[in-house]
Amino acid sequence: MQDFPLLLTGYDLQPQRVDSFIALGSNLGHPLAQLARAFQALDHLPHTRVLRVSQLYANPPMGPQDQPDYVNAVALLSTRLAPLDLLDALKALEHAAGRFATRHWGARVLDLDILTYGTETIDSATLTIPHPGISDRRFVLAPWAEIAPQIALPDGRRIADLLAAAPNHPLRVIPVQSAVDSNDRPSY
Ligand code: ADP
Ligand code: MG
Repeated sequence: MQDFPLLLTGYDLQPQRVDSFIALGSNLGHPLAQLARAFQALDHLPHTRVLRVSQLYANPPMGPQDQPDYVNAVALLSTRLAPLDLLDALKALEHAAGRFATRHWGARVLDLDILTYGTETIDSATLTIPHPGISDRRFVLAPWAEIAPQIALPDGRRIADLLAAAPNHPLRVIPVQSAVDSNDRPSY
């Protein structure tokens, strides 16, 4: 797809499709549009389909407070890309969205994190699955529980239970209409 220039070559495919949950976040460059585009771009990755997406959540930043609110969401993919190739693909999408290196927890145009990849546990230099930040991030758990409350991490903890136990953090669902109107009212 010309709209989604991806520099993926020579990737490994799994013999079967794997369900993978992805966290999306943005607080620069019109975040609502960024996430809408990212959902489409994920669906256009090779051998990959988006099966489900959550609503969009407005979320005050963790870390440095001198930056705009984030918009966060979670998507369920079905993919045959191997984990490291999926990570490369997500980094390519971040890059295509105009993301550049920033300070830790600093503002970014697009952040795409792999939350889970089937039931696998991975701990390598470049990839940790399940994503280590899951259990204390309400802005991940709330959209995730919305689309898959019954799903459990490889260690057996259910998303709905993790959400119930997560630290409090102000979060609100962005009404669909304001997402639809976002071209006229770029408040996010
Ligand atoms: P963060 O998402 O924590 O704000 P970055 O998006 O800058 O940080 O990611 C930094 C690095 O984290 C990436 O280059 C990637 O190699 C690594 N990483 C490790 N595990 C994961 C994962 N599950 N999903 C995405 N990136 C990961
Ligand atoms: Mg990331």
